[in-house]
Amino acid sequence: MAGKIPALPESFAPSPDSVFSDQFGFYSLDSNVPGLSKVILDNLNMKDYSEYRAALEGRGKVGFRSHKEMFQKMEETFRFCACCSTLPTRLSDPSLLRRCGKCLNVYYCSKECQRKDWSLHKKFCKKLRVVAIDRLVDWLVHTGDLPFPTETWPRPAKEVRCWDDWLSMQGDLTARMDPILSGKNMTDLWINACRPRPDEAELRESVWRVCSEFLSRPLTIGLGIRMFCLDPYSRPLTIHLVGAGHNETLGARTKDLDELSRMFPGHQGLEVVMVGPEVVKGPIMRPPLRAFGPRGRVYISAYKGLYHEFWEELVEKGEAAKPDLVVGFHPGFHASQGLGEGWLPTLLLLRDYSIPSVFTMYNDGELKYSVQILVELEMDIKGTGPNPFSSQKPEQVQSSPNKEPSYCNAFYLYFQGLLEDKQDED
Ligand SMILES: [Zn+2]
Ligand SMILES: [Zn+2]
Repeated sequence: MAGKIPALPESFAPSPDSVFSDQFGFYSLDSNVPGLSKVILDNLNMKDYSEYRAALEGRGKVGFRSHKEMFQKMEETFRFCACCSTLPTRLSDPSLLRRCGKCLNVYYCSKECQRKDWSLHKKFCKKLRVVAIDRLVDWLVHTGDLPFPTETWPRPAKEVRCWDDWLSMQGDLTARMDPILSGKNMTDLWINACRPRPDEAELRESVWRVCSEFLSRPLTIGLGIRMFCLDPYSRPLTIHLVGAGHNETLGARTKDLDELSRMFPGHQGLEVVMVGPEVVKGPIMRPPLRAFGPRGRVYISAYKGLYHEFWEELVEKGEAAKPDLVVGFHPGFHASQGLGEGWLPTLLLLRDYSIPSVFTMYNDGELKYSVQILVELEMDIKGTGPNPFSSQKPEQVQSSPNKEPSYCNAFYLYFQGLLEDKQDED
């Protein structure tokens, strides 16, 4: 096949509970399925986690000869017995590992294991089928087929309270969906993945779910703008996306957040700076603006490094505008070993400069844990709850598929500064 094979698609990379985004998370796959991290590395012809990281960031060698090979190797990383966790290499005959015929997503080493697991798996089988379809359809974000084009909002943002409201403004999506469904990339996808193509209705829904994940980011930023009563019509706004990583920056395009301009048509200019040590290089890797955003447009830039470093290096020196709002998608406080080195300096900075801040979480447990951390830091938490613009695309726990899937940006919390009674004490 001609052309360069791009880096790994997002859906094969970090999944919420396996947190591949750090070394600890990557090797913790092995606690559920001993040897799984090695299978993943072997399939990618890599020797250790640092090479895996490099590949995710588009550096280094991802040695796929074709898309078919890439999809095959990726599928290998899901191949282990969902009941007893045995990997194919540990079987006398690896072909004994058979896939569940309904979801085409989980494997069993024997009929006994499949039978034993069914009482649990039957609760998730239908959903896991959807997950497997979405995981592949996500590829179309990388090819540029998705997201489908969207319309300027005819209603003020405050009246658009949930996805149904948003969809009702889009009108009939058929004309926008059809070219994607009948396109060459969609056809090639199922051929290369060696899977039967799902029926049109299933694919249509999958395309929507994958787009919802993409759109969930600008809509959550918009939610933050509204929750803090910021007015993009009266002045330009600067938004910092802290802890930005693969999900936001891998293959990112400068137009990825344009939905914000459709949400606030004619705004005074919106600038988004993505900051994080895991920012992936690409076209958005350009300097932030010093003062005003371009009127009516969204300007995205990126900085690879920790937020407090960015602050010292650029914000304090006047090289980057101070933020009106800070947003963080899935900071993963729960997974960071020792908050001290990672998030603590950022959280203290946000608190001490009293910056309006919004963070999202994958699930309720993560939300509770994050609230606990902020309470300990005596932050003034303004509110928490389920995000009305949560991604609709379910994601499985890779090393433990028979679990409730999670959704990007499913919950939010927002805060600003120090609790009032704590201020009085000072
Ligand atoms: Zn088994
Ligand atoms: Zn199944």
